[in-house]
Amino acid sequence: MRRPPHTLVAVAAALALTAAATSAATADTDSGTPTPGAPGIGDPLLPGSGNGGYRVDHYTLGFDWQGPGIAFPADTEIKARATRNLSRFNLDFAGNTLGRVTVDGRTARTAREGDELVITPARALRRGQEFKVRVQYTADPTQQRHRDDAIETFGWIPTPDGTVVYPQPDGAKMIFPSNDHPSLRARTTVNVTAPDGLTALSNGTLTDKRRAGQGRTRWTYDSRQPVAGQLFQLAIGSYTLVDGTTPDGIKLRDAVPPALVERVEQYRALTPRHLAWVQSKLGPYPFDSYGIVVADTDLGVALETQTLSLVPKADLLGDKVNAERNMVHELVHQWTGDSVAMDRWADLWLSEGHARYYERVYSQENGGAQLEPLMRDAYRQHDIWRRDTGAPAEPTEPNLFKRMRYDGSALVFYALRAEVGDDTFARIERAWATRNRGRAVSTADYVALASRVAGRDLAPFLNAWLYGPRTPPMPGHPDWTVDPA
Ligand SMILES: [Zn+2]
Repeated sequence: MRRPPHTLVAVAAALALTAAATSAATADTDSGTPTPGAPGIGDPLLPGSGNGGYRVDHYTLGFDWQGPGIAFPADTEIKARATRNLSRFNLDFAGNTLGRVTVDGRTARTAREGDELVITPARALRRGQEFKVRVQYTADPTQQRHRDDAIETFGWIPTPDGTVVYPQPDGAKMIFPSNDHPSLRARTTVNVTAPDGLTALSNGTLTDKRRAGQGRTRWTYDSRQPVAGQLFQLAIGSYTLVDGTTPDGIKLRDAVPPALVERVEQYRALTPRHLAWVQSKLGPYPFDSYGIVVADTDLGVALETQTLSLVPKADLLGDKVNAERNMVHELVHQWTGDSVAMDRWADLWLSEGHARYYERVYSQENGGAQLEPLMRDAYRQHDIWRRDTGAPAEPTEPNLFKRMRYDGSALVFYALRAEVGDDTFARIERAWATRNRGRAVSTADYVALASRVAGRDLAPFLNAWLYGPRTPPMPGHPDWTVDPA
């Protein structure tokens, strides 16, 4: 909307009023009695995830690794800012053995309530105040949980001589005290001390590696771009590091168990080609570097841990079509899921639906199955999935990594493309990934942006697909049928 110039005075007056109202509200809040921060951010699918009353700017994580299955000293330092007067606040933290907790250097009182660590500082925190929390603990690298969906097992994932981690969806709290929700992100510095001869890896860039004495080495990684708990990676073990640079200057670093280097080379070497392909769809790669850690584990699924995807070895030891599908899927997530994050868990269809859609499109162009019959099959089952696990943007249970969020959501993008045409769809997608870089955004944001780019209101079309009780007709395919639910 453009504002005619004669209303500027009115606007200025309105702004002054708003400022006065804001400062009155602020004064009111500042003088208000400090109250407890919320134990969650109100995400109905995972109500305890994240915390209220403050924002985290930076995590400094320390892991003093001792060996597979051995509990070890760890500590987390959190730089945060109170968003209101706080008598106490929570962190998400599960298992492990809690040690001393300080706030700005003073010992704080703590209580553990399920997966919530409740911290009461010696002095209440004022709105806007920056503060530092330090949590010392003994980490339990055997801690895992199980889910009744595609993830199955998450938490610490052992390897023969070390570990990797699989924090999705809310398992970061098993690894470090955090605000464990995908919309709550902070920069990280990770210091890992491990026996000489092992390699430690985490998100971002290796900024320091030094002898730590007694046969140990300390590795430091910094992530310039904020990381959500579910996208955190910590890999420790024997790895051969393979560095490279793509033709357009993206730094590559893969970590491969030495015995597998030659066997996975043919697929690992495809990453520059995959990067170029995804960039042609979703715009520039959003981070400083990319790589995969090939995990010597029989874990069933890969994970898009930010800048360093976790890929179980079986994914790269089978046939080419499957290997590429898995690699492209995790790579697409770096744009959608990682850089463009979910606002709430109900927005998961945007993350998994995009990854599945592009994985399938790439595969079709590179010797894999044709997209159309796959989408027709997903269409046929869509009402059954709708009934069993909820419409694409309306999952009805916390076990939300079900087929509706993958094939059933890829189908929504397929339908949108059929509705608006290839060119408009391509512009929507590129705009989505580039304009929302580094932001947590919602399904409503996608619908609004798609409508703006298309120049027409797509809400009736998309909302029927995303929330409706029944699967709408597929544009261009009046003969497609849906099995009755
Ligand atoms: Zn995925």
